[in-house]
Amino acid sequence: MSLVIVGSLAFDTIETPLDRREKIVGGSGTYCSLAASFFTHPRVVGVVGRDFPRKTLDFLRSRKIDLKGVSIKAGKTFHWEGRYGEDPNQRTTVRTDLNVFADFKPVLPPSYRSADIIYLANIDPDLHEPILNQARKPRLVAMDTIRYWIESKTDAVFRELKRVDIYFANDEEVKLLAGDTNLVRAGRKLLKCGPSLIVAKKGEHGALVFGRDFIFGVLARPSEDVVDPTGAGDSFAGGFLGYLDTVPKITPRELRRAVVYGSVIASFAIEDFGIDRFRTLTPREIKARFGEFKKLVSF
Ligand code: AMP
Repeated sequence: MSLVIVGSLAFDTIETPLDRREKIVGGSGTYCSLAASFFTHPRVVGVVGRDFPRKTLDFLRSRKIDLKGVSIKAGKTFHWEGRYGEDPNQRTTVRTDLNVFADFKPVLPPSYRSADIIYLANIDPDLHEPILNQARKPRLVAMDTIRYWIESKTDAVFRELKRVDIYFANDEEVKLLAGDTNLVRAGRKLLKCGPSLIVAKKGEHGALVFGRDFIFGVLARPSEDVVDPTGAGDSFAGGFLGYLDTVPKITPRELRRAVVYGSVIASFAIEDFGIDRFRTLTPREIKARFGEFKKLVSF
């Protein structure tokens, strides 16, 4: 099995009500691949500037993440700045400096082309087609978007929905794209646009999964100290897809387990700033929290 993740490797400036961190390592591809690395050996496609820390690349490699698809270009790494209010589900993008990401032309190295699962993390939807054209016959294609692309390239997002099996987005984004204030109606509308699964992430409230003939929900782990919510969505997708990459057949039961693994990994990501929690996280902790989730929803 193999999972290819195309996404951003970034510097993030994060402001929460309690703290501020300048230019710490983040990015959708970074979070997603670290999360997936607890299940499989993900392969990443992305671009960084020469200012991106070599020791972070070494850390990713130490987690058995394949970086053959990451190019280092002259110039500055993508930089994103976000601010959170008291409610960690509410965030404002303060600035987005695309830098080397502006001319990102993703190239799948030959060893990535037979990928079973391809995840198009929050990237320009116009890049999807050239990426998928380089792949042979993936078993599953998933994508994510944020408000930025939904508002600036609405038609492209709808066009790309037709090509994917799974669409991940925040509940707000699902409603925005579907043009409906009711999440269930919005999820059902998007199902008619192509994907066979819509995963609506609801921040600290969990996730709601819409399939053609079912709706499945999972709670997020109740947490009293959310240090930095950045990357929760990407970590969710990484845990979800990383787990699916290990199963011989994707069945409804495995999809449910994948949602729980996504939630478990996301619940760790938010416990520290940036990617720091992934430096200490162990498979044992993941297993224990998976058990906690089971207890949370059993009756
Ligand atoms: P999330 O999982 O939604 O919290 O994603 C946060 C990550 O997305 C941050 O680490 C950012 O670097 C990255 N990001 C924010 N805006 C964009 C964008 N327009 N394109 C690609 N990545 C982005």
